[in-house]
Amino acid sequence: QAKADGRNTFRLFAEQMNAEVKDRKEMLADMREALDNNGFQLAFQPQVQLADQSIVGSEALLRWHHNDRGQVSPSRFIPVAEQGGLIVDLGEWVVGAACDQIGLFDKMGLPPIRIAVNISSVQFRRGNLVECTKSILDRTGVSPDRLEFEITESVVMTDVDKAIKTMQELDTIGVRLSMDDFGTGYSSLSYLRQFPIQKIKIDKSFVQNIEIEENSMEIVNAIIGLSRSMNITVVAEGVETEGQLAKLKEAGCEVVQGFYFGRPMAAQDFESWMGDWHKEPALVATRA
Ligand code: C2E
Ligand code: MG
Ligand code: MG
Ligand code: MG
Repeated sequence: QAKADGRNTFRLFAEQMNAEVKDRKEMLADMREALDNNGFQLAFQPQVQLADQSIVGSEALLRWHHNDRGQVSPSRFIPVAEQGGLIVDLGEWVVGAACDQIGLFDKMGLPPIRIAVNISSVQFRRGNLVECTKSILDRTGVSPDRLEFEITESVVMTDVDKAIKTMQELDTIGVRLSMDDFGTGYSSLSYLRQFPIQKIKIDKSFVQNIEIEENSMEIVNAIIGLSRSMNITVVAEGVETEGQLAKLKEAGCEVVQGFYFGRPMAAQDFESWMGDWHKEPALVATRA
């Protein structure tokens, strides 16, 4: 009986595995199709500089609406694209779309904010990221300093020397670099100083526990101190409440990003959000 149970458990497990593999395969095929047919969009989330309440930038986040699945989270489809070899093309599309949008925002008369895009580890290591970025900047005529790449610690730590080289090349072109989800990876502080980065983003898990957990507050304080000593801008992500904001101000955080100020929005909505913000920042913040 025990043996039979074991066999059944295994069969169930194998079925689930098969279902997952099949699902990923289908998803990958649908993503290929979406990429060819304008099926992806970017959403824009503002970054607020606390000292003067100005909007210093915006993170572009990939959005995919699937006919049957509905809105699929990038946390779900990005890994599939990475494993399926689609991420280099998809990532290239993101950089291109972000640059196109910078041109469009300029035409609309928005202030010349910087747009940050997320770069996958696979894209960072395997793609010809530097060449590809150069040609997109050439094609769109966007000034390189309007573009920022968000990379994570794990991206960099897998092959530090190569990563530093790529970062330096991007730095030479003039593209800004930001360390995303900081505090969650296994970064080495001695390396951090060698990276040509201009920004560190405190991971939202710390921000979200900042009021409840002494430990999170201490980590936030440490990251802010570190950024100061390196002359790097520090951004807190995932700010949702007034209480979290108060704690971050107290800690001396410079820039904040989160639902409290604005959710990731379609380009048109972001444009009108910017208009509202400039009229009445405080009001916009509390109703987001
Ligand atoms: P991330 O780069 O750390 O992006 C921040 C995530 O936090 C976004 O989730 C954003 O919508 C969410 N967020 C912002 N403010 C708040 C808040 O106040 N509370 C909470 N709970 N969440 C907040 P999203 O858009 O689902 O993206 C998830 C992750 O997927 C991103 O994390 C990034 O790692 C990845 N991703 C998104 N777009 C791209 C892309 O174009 N390329 C690559 N390679 N990865 C992407
Ligand atoms: Mg990011
Ligand atoms: Mg992040
Ligand atoms: Mg992330």
